[in-house]
Amino acid sequence: MKEQAEIGVFGGSGLYSLLERERDVKVDTPFGAPSDKVALGEIAGRRVAFLARHGRTHDYPPHAINYRANLWAMSQLGVSRIIGPCAAGSLRAEVKPGHFVVCDQLVDRTTGRKDTFFDGHITTHVSFAHPYCSQLRPLAISAVKDAGITCHERGTVVTIQGPRFSTLAESRWFASNNWEVINMTQYPEAYLARELEMCYVNISLITDYDAGLEGQPGIEPVTHEAVIQVFQANNERVKQVIYTMIERMPKTRDCACGSALQGARI
Ligand SMILES: [Zn+2]
Repeated sequence: MKEQAEIGVFGGSGLYSLLERERDVKVDTPFGAPSDKVALGEIAGRRVAFLARHGRTHDYPPHAINYRANLWAMSQLGVSRIIGPCAAGSLRAEVKPGHFVVCDQLVDRTTGRKDTFFDGHITTHVSFAHPYCSQLRPLAISAVKDAGITCHERGTVVTIQGPRFSTLAESRWFASNNWEVINMTQYPEAYLARELEMCYVNISLITDYDAGLEGQPGIEPVTHEAVIQVFQANNERVKQVIYTMIERMPKTRDCACGSALQGARI
């Protein structure tokens, strides 16, 4: 397939379209079908591919997403950089609903997800010490700040299996590790991008306080309705951030993502 896009965007809950003039392509992969058709178009003269992570009508809950097909489809279209915004809960009082966090670390608490392309006889151990792209993170931080949104320049996201939310005890445990953000889709999405040597950056859009925060009456446990309400309010703001990032994105990569597989084979 000839190169059709350079930058990929995964839309999370509430973000089901991005491009104004687009054409949809259906991409087949050896791992099955992606969550939906991929929309192709342009932003600021750059070719962009957009895929709704859960499908446009939200057909796939986090644990049922075919992450390998989604990432493979982007790679097949020629994408080398991915912007992956997502709805997320906060584990800390100072990280408030409406704030954006550009995460720098990730903890995987999922189970049973298909999380590698290297299932076969070639043993490949890929470094994931630094899960997010060193070139795209500063770009995301400045775009969030320039949009007038409160930005946390780093944070650890713990990815839980879902679809259920956390118990109070789980939430307390996550918070006691000084992790800031909780979500259901960052793993294996961010990791599979690394296996395909694509850059990946996350912007966590805080919608709620996970299971509520201890000792802070008035901060209620999360409900699905509350998440959707705040995410919809964030929708235009995150689009603006993505547009700014694409406008400013350098043409060449100066990070290590493009050579992630060097020395990884055994
Ligand atoms: Zn990179």
